[in-house]
Amino acid sequence: MKITLLGSGDAIGMPVPMCDCEYCQESEKRRRPGLLVETDDDTLVFELSPDIKEQLHELKVCEVDAFFVTHHHFDHFSGIRELNHIAIEEHVLNPGDFDYNGWHGREITVYGNQRTWNYLQEKQSHIAENENISFEVMGAGEKVEIGEVTTEAFKVEHGEETQGYVIQKDGKKVVYVPDVRNIPEDEDCYEDADIVLMEGQLFGAESHGYTEEIEQNIEQVKADRTVLVNISEHLNQMHTEKLEKTAEEKGYEIWNDFESVEL
Ligand SMILES: [Zn+2]
Ligand SMILES: [Zn+2]
Repeated sequence: MKITLLGSGDAIGMPVPMCDCEYCQESEKRRRPGLLVETDDDTLVFELSPDIKEQLHELKVCEVDAFFVTHHHFDHFSGIRELNHIAIEEHVLNPGDFDYNGWHGREITVYGNQRTWNYLQEKQSHIAENENISFEVMGAGEKVEIGEVTTEAFKVEHGEETQGYVIQKDGKKVVYVPDVRNIPEDEDCYEDADIVLMEGQLFGAESHGYTEEIEQNIEQVKADRTVLVNISEHLNQMHTEKLEKTAEEKGYEIWNDFESVEL
């Protein structure tokens, strides 16, 4: 299984729009959250960020077996509008029978929790009604098998209702928890992972949890490697080199967008 970080940035991403600070001017681009998981036969994408179009294009990903989202916040789910908007293409190509349900003549499946589904129905009902986008409610404790990849959701503390994902194939385990304050102590599905991609705002710009809480989460997961996500040079007022060095001193890694590892 190969994993690729689609977005290492926070909710705003780097650079921050219209910001002329030295950090925004001199840092590499960091897109909003996303993770690509690939096997020989299957392609899974975690999160539908507002940068989803660019993220998929960059890696030439044209077939996705399933999307999974952790929660309904803008930076994790608003990319569903981007995908839905492709229906307009059908309008141009087939003006006679345009019904707002076209999607390259294909279908996509999105897994997410009940709160995310409720949000879609309440705030973007035209997308909820798009027959080419199938939303499957998947709550904490539930498992979904896509080919040989098993994905399990577990509840985490962040906003109204958020989950993390444990992704496994052939004895390899990846844990993805991009937005979190605390993970539950009475849960063990995330333990002993090969790699965890975890909320990483712990250098003085905490917005989701306190540093001690995030570090406690990382300790609980007991992963061989820890990659910090939700990285912002702008919010931390640090250049990339300093951020990376500070993380390294704690035993953590910071990746650029599209860095990957084969497990
Ligand atoms: Zn800035
Ligand atoms: Zn969030």
